[in-house]
Amino acid sequence: MRSFVLRFPGGFKKAMTFSYDDGVMQDVRLSQLMKKHGVKATFNVNSHMYRKTDAPEGYLSLEELKAISDDENFEIACHGHVHPLYTFMPQAAVTDDMMINRKFLEKQTGKMVRGFAYPSLSAYNDTSELSLKSTGIVYARLANNLKNFFIPENWHRWEPSCHHNEAPELFEIFKGDLPGIKPMIMYVWGHSYEFDRQNNWELIEGLLEECSKTTDIWYATNMEIYNYVNAFKQLVFSADGSFVHNPTAYTLWGVLDGNKKTGAGKIIELAPSETVELHL
Ligand SMILES: [Zn+2]
Repeated sequence: MRSFVLRFPGGFKKAMTFSYDDGVMQDVRLSQLMKKHGVKATFNVNSHMYRKTDAPEGYLSLEELKAISDDENFEIACHGHVHPLYTFMPQAAVTDDMMINRKFLEKQTGKMVRGFAYPSLSAYNDTSELSLKSTGIVYARLANNLKNFFIPENWHRWEPSCHHNEAPELFEIFKGDLPGIKPMIMYVWGHSYEFDRQNNWELIEGLLEECSKTTDIWYATNMEIYNYVNAFKQLVFSADGSFVHNPTAYTLWGVLDGNKKTGAGKIIELAPSETVELHL
């Protein structure tokens, strides 16, 4: 049986996503820039700062949080209630912190919130992963810089490609002709307050401009990528691989591996509930 390899919406081999932490006021400016350039992102927000009626200066107000969430270009995800160091907390306290955060964000946005970014690199261990799974969180991002474009095997250990400081350089490679048939994701993370502190908003503006000019990439939120890849995994194949059925609600794209004479390299689109013959 030949492999039927994932392609992102539109038949693209590449996807790109951004992830910004801490729910700070600079997220408003950043989200506006992203929207202008057709780029999507996930914003990871704590909830401790909304202890009184609204957040203190420096953070997103509840109104700004709702406005970002209402925009289809963006996803709001969890970042822990108190920005905690989970590795030094008992399991029950970790689970409790995650649930407070998730419930708060769902109440404020009126949307399902199932994504997460670890509050620090040291917040990941077996305990925090177990708590995430038990609280209904389906993916969680670490804060490291792998400089690669792999799709995660373990979605509760999603390792990004790079911090935004390295992104312009890495994007030069990503937008080029990448070898191999495997799909790839460039994942950029950071904090929008860094652009104020380092006085380098031009870094992200330049990168977003490059993104807007690169049209063979699917720009998506973290959750959209998670949902799409996991829908693709639900495809059903006949025993000899000659038919494929899409049982999901998503339109899915794939490409046949193998010899060009037998139809390899052709992008195949599968509508929801559709069954398609793969022997071309
Ligand atoms: Zn943080």
